[in-house]
Amino acid sequence: MTALALALFAMIAIVALRYLAVSGFFAWLSTRVRPGLYAGQRAQIRREIGWSLLAAAIYGAPAGLAMYAWTELGWTRIYTDAGAYPLLWIPLSIFVYLFIHDSYFYWTHRAMHRPWLFRRMHAVHHDSRPPTAWAAMSFHPWESLSGALLIPALVFLIPIHVAALGVVLSVMTFFGVTNHMGWEIFPRRWVEGRFGAAMISASHHHRHHTDYRCNYGLYFRFWDRLCDTDRGLSGDLHVESRNLRRAGGTAADRRG
Ligand SMILES: [Zn+2]
Ligand SMILES: [Zn+2]
Repeated sequence: MTALALALFAMIAIVALRYLAVSGFFAWLSTRVRPGLYAGQRAQIRREIGWSLLAAAIYGAPAGLAMYAWTELGWTRIYTDAGAYPLLWIPLSIFVYLFIHDSYFYWTHRAMHRPWLFRRMHAVHHDSRPPTAWAAMSFHPWESLSGALLIPALVFLIPIHVAALGVVLSVMTFFGVTNHMGWEIFPRRWVEGRFGAAMISASHHHRHHTDYRCNYGLYFRFWDRLCDTDRGLSGDLHVESRNLRRAGGTAADRRG
């Protein structure tokens, strides 16, 4: 097998196994923390897993190309010597990657909510009503392709330490799964505090899945707030619903 074929095969397998392991873990955790939450959603979960595995192949291919370009050709800006750039760049590069990813996601996501693109690219993702932990990569192939290219392209342009890249990919995986699992994993104090004011978690993204044309962001609420598409936190997440309603302060946030 050539090195290129090996890199492609390895990355597709890694993305698929990562999906099965992480979504599987959080789906299992959901049955412990919120028994019965996914009751009656068997057929939907089967669809979510099918689309996600197809998406894993589409995400894995450009990742494999980037891996080949890094290890075999030395063409990327991925570095392993922590002293190659100022140390501060390691945390900063994580933020830069996440911010660019978030901006790209916000605008492509908003575009995909235009009726023509919605039907062709994004309806599959919204078929999950409500989504489960298995919906993290439940995308139509066109949507997968649009999402799969950004990070592999960025590694050719913006220097990043391999460990920082690992953090970016872990953050991406964690939020992708937990934002869809139907309950809030972060403490209520955080969600209603400064963390939740800046960051997106399940309470925020769940509202996108119920109300559609709002809360488009991926990690940060920055673009939603700037462009007036932020409608605040979901009132009907299974965990927080009662608590949120009780805490009067968040009612205003929900109305957004
Ligand atoms: Zn979603
Ligand atoms: Zn959407």
